[in-house]
Amino acid sequence: MDYTEYIYPFTDEKIIIKKEDYNSILDYCRQGIPEESCGLIGGKKDENINRIEKVYFLTNIDHSNEHFSMDPKEQLDAYKDARANGYDILGNFHSHPESPSRPSEEDKKLAYDSKAIYMILSLMEDNNPVLRAFHVEKNSIVTEHEIIVE
Ligand SMILES: [Zn+2]
Repeated sequence: MDYTEYIYPFTDEKIIIKKEDYNSILDYCRQGIPEESCGLIGGKKDENINRIEKVYFLTNIDHSNEHFSMDPKEQLDAYKDARANGYDILGNFHSHPESPSRPSEEDKKLAYDSKAIYMILSLMEDNNPVLRAFHVEKNSIVTEHEIIVE
């Protein structure tokens, strides 16, 4: 797979995710195949570091392999839980079972929160899951956040 057409400038903002959370996202999204899986990421932002402290696994009520909508009730519960734990919802994640890790045209259209982090996990290659994190401006300009798994 040639990813060169999906190169975006990096922002100064980095994302730190625990290995166990990364693995949980991977497991959840693999189990969701052939549908796209989705969820929210809670944590804290300090200067240019977004530290993910808790991942919320939500139901894709579209049950589609090409798009997703998060269950609104589960979304609300996640926001409440994050607040109770002193975290912010930093953004969301979803999987691309059959396409590369880059915001699709529809993803860009639906990325109405320009402060949120949009993580996309591509599972199109069985042995090579690709997790990337994006920032999408209202004008659909995409930049990328470096992800540090620790
Ligand atoms: Zn997508």
